[in-house]
Amino acid sequence: MSSQIKRPIYVTQPFLPPLEEFLPYLEKIWSNKILTNNGPFHEQLEQALCEYLGVKHVALFTNGTIALVTALQSLRITGEVITTPYSFVATSHALLWNGIKPVFVDINPNTLNLDPEKIEAAITPQTTAIMPVHCYGYPCDVQAIQKIADNYNLRVVYDAAHAFGVEDATGSILQHGDLSVLSFHATKVFNTFEGGAIVCPDAKTKQRIDHLKNFGFLGETNVVAPGINGKMSEFNAALGLLQLKYIDKALARRKEIDIAYRVGLKDIRGIDCLNDSGEKVANHAYFPILVGEDYPISRDDLYQKLKEKNIHPRRYFYPLISEFSMYRGLPSAHRENLPVATTAAQQVLCLPIYPDLDMSIVDEIIHFITAQ
Ligand SMILES: *Cc1c(COP(=O)(O)O)cnc(C)c1O
Repeated sequence: MSSQIKRPIYVTQPFLPPLEEFLPYLEKIWSNKILTNNGPFHEQLEQALCEYLGVKHVALFTNGTIALVTALQSLRITGEVITTPYSFVATSHALLWNGIKPVFVDINPNTLNLDPEKIEAAITPQTTAIMPVHCYGYPCDVQAIQKIADNYNLRVVYDAAHAFGVEDATGSILQHGDLSVLSFHATKVFNTFEGGAIVCPDAKTKQRIDHLKNFGFLGETNVVAPGINGKMSEFNAALGLLQLKYIDKALARRKEIDIAYRVGLKDIRGIDCLNDSGEKVANHAYFPILVGEDYPISRDDLYQKLKEKNIHPRRYFYPLISEFSMYRGLPSAHRENLPVATTAAQQVLCLPIYPDLDMSIVDEIIHFITAQ
């Protein structure tokens, strides 16, 4: 097979709408001179996202990390929070920004999400909440997690940065727990260049969140909390409105690529694709494979060889958060406490998947992995 790969193929490439379609939005901003602070595009995007996602309230943010920090602050979460080490570092950083101690609990080997069966053993009198991640957009076991939370009177904040548009049998996966947090970063399924949001179940919580993302201002003359500047600008909100027009097409393209990988890789010894975890609507945000011991070469050798071919997969999530020097000292960070996550981090490789990825390149990647 002759190589199609002339320029680097990264794990993802942001989707952008046609530039000329964005110009009318910019003209509006230039004429009304409203750049931020809950402007008209901001309001429209919050409304449009509620409708598209099938949720009650959305509070837009400048990025997902500030949204995570504010979500925890809005619920006044303190003490210890149970979370997964198998995620992007922003998950546990958001806890530290609130002065909360992260407690790492191992993941389920099939979904790579927080394992509900291991949560109870990690609960102490200081535990106030659980912060799971819908990793790769595969839903957590939301029912089991809620049951534990109810039994122990804990809050649940989902890091749903990967889970835009994902639905289970009851509808949006974002309706579970007390709050869910989205990221609209350039690398995510739905992007506003940078951006994020908190999905919340009631108007009162949204109002508190809206105060917190605006320095804690309550009205014009009073400040009631040490809030932050977390507001999404009109530029990003306008782009979000335009991106929404293309999201279904983008998701459909991702699905085609997902299917092609699954079919092409299914009979290769030592390569496992993650199965969906019962979602009704998936978003195919990532395409993780696990490179097991039966595969002829190691995960890292496969990673290097693909890079030499100008294909750049990513080892998400390696190293685990618990392996970073600043987290390593936590009692829950020991590898013996996290055997499943430790193995997953050694085996995982996320293959390129994005709407504009050419199917001939997908075929070439499959061919290359088959030929080792
Ligand atoms: C991307 C991401 C974040 C952070 O979102 P930003 O918008 O980049 O701040 C948080 N958690 C997870 C799991 C992510 O993948």
